[in-house]
Amino acid sequence: MQQLIAGVHKFQQDELGRYKKLFHRLSRQEQNPHTLFITCSDSRVLAELITQSQPGDLFVVKNVGNMVPRADVPGRNSTAAAIEFAVKILGVSDVVVCGHSQCGAMTALLNGLPESAEIPHLRDWIATASPVRELMDRHYQHLTDRDARITAAAGENVLFALENLHTYPAVATRIADGTLRLHGWFFQIATAKLFAYDLSTQQFQPIEPEP
Ligand SMILES: [Zn+2]
Repeated sequence: MQQLIAGVHKFQQDELGRYKKLFHRLSRQEQNPHTLFITCSDSRVLAELITQSQPGDLFVVKNVGNMVPRADVPGRNSTAAAIEFAVKILGVSDVVVCGHSQCGAMTALLNGLPESAEIPHLRDWIATASPVRELMDRHYQHLTDRDARITAAAGENVLFALENLHTYPAVATRIADGTLRLHGWFFQIATAKLFAYDLSTQQFQPIEPEP
């Protein structure tokens, strides 16, 4: 906690000056983010840092494994609520689902969780991506390296999340109107590089500066 408090002090003393006007302006209007950014709760994946976004730019959903449950999954889930809010009420123009390397959720999906009665919600949540595990069993038998399997699962999980986004009427309507675009991204922790899924090559390609 000391580290957090020290950070608050540092922000107030060293950084706030640069942001004062922006926060003041943002407080006088409704938020108007351009993008819904769905990524993993992992502490190493910082949406704003890796996209150099400012306050007001991104509507961020972080959950374990950057998952998007299908719209018809029963029960409450905050990710579904956030999707509807961002797409229908805030009117974002883009949705990014960003997976990442060394994802603990993908590790749990492929290798299981510790036997414990104290993690029922986590177990249920990870099961959201069980179709990804089935796909891994069917199509990725040749991959034996542990890290490579986790990376492949993270990529497939992003595509699965994009597919599930289409099950939300709010999303489907806006895609049909041509006012909403979906993007699949992947963040490689070791290099801090971002990759975007390319439909034409069906691969994640590095996001590189314009030549
Ligand atoms: Zn993760």
